[in-house]
Amino acid sequence: MARRKLVAGNWKMNGDLAALAELEGIAAAAVAAPGVDVAIAVPATLIAPAAARVPGFTIGAEDVHPADKGAHTGCISVPMIREAGASFSIVGHSERRADCGETDADVRAKAEALLRHGMHAILCVGETLAERDAGQAQAVVTGQLRASFPDGAASGWLSIAYEPVWAIGTGRTPTVEDVAAIHGAIRATLVDLLGDDAQAMRVLYGGSVTAENAASLLGAGDVDGALVGGASLTAAKFVPIIDAGA
Ligand code: PGA
Repeated sequence: MARRKLVAGNWKMNGDLAALAELEGIAAAAVAAPGVDVAIAVPATLIAPAAARVPGFTIGAEDVHPADKGAHTGCISVPMIREAGASFSIVGHSERRADCGETDADVRAKAEALLRHGMHAILCVGETLAERDAGQAQAVVTGQLRASFPDGAASGWLSIAYEPVWAIGTGRTPTVEDVAAIHGAIRATLVDLLGDDAQAMRVLYGGSVTAENAASLLGAGDVDGALVGGASLTAAKFVPIIDAGA
């Protein structure tokens, strides 16, 4: 089935108020490409100013806490990011799994919190280089997906991002055939988990997506968009990726 592509940026721990000027060019490119959905996840401190700067453009968070409120110093809840102007959040990014020890169960609880509040989640999965070299990429990715898959998920609420850990920020990418193989395995797992609704769920690729490789990665089988880190920080680098998805 034909799925609308989603090109999402992830600013990670980058950006400041001055950098929000980049969002104007990105939002204009999104309007000029009505066939593709475009979104940017920004650091929590930038959600409100970003949402004010580009009204109507989709701004998200990079992480959320699973609880709505309480004694969790330093954490930010779904109602908080929503009030600030976010309409989605990334969950389970490999940098949070590695830096913060997030487990599949944590990721699942975060996704379920977003779904409880009717907000979109982009749930990340991906293997390390050692796991790929050991021939376990497919098993690791589908295992993460099953273990972190939220209860009550539906295609309108959730997207999956396949991000091989070794491809993030390294300039290395899997071959188009490797991407298509993993995306096919993710799709088969989704069918098992969701039945017919799985066909409408978007599965993005992430990891060193650039203006140069976006067209071939976005053209790979079962790839419904991209999650872009470094190349989402400026309009000059991100707009050609939006255009490749259009
Ligand atoms: P990258 O990051 O595009 O800089 O490799 C992707 C991501 O971590 O989402």
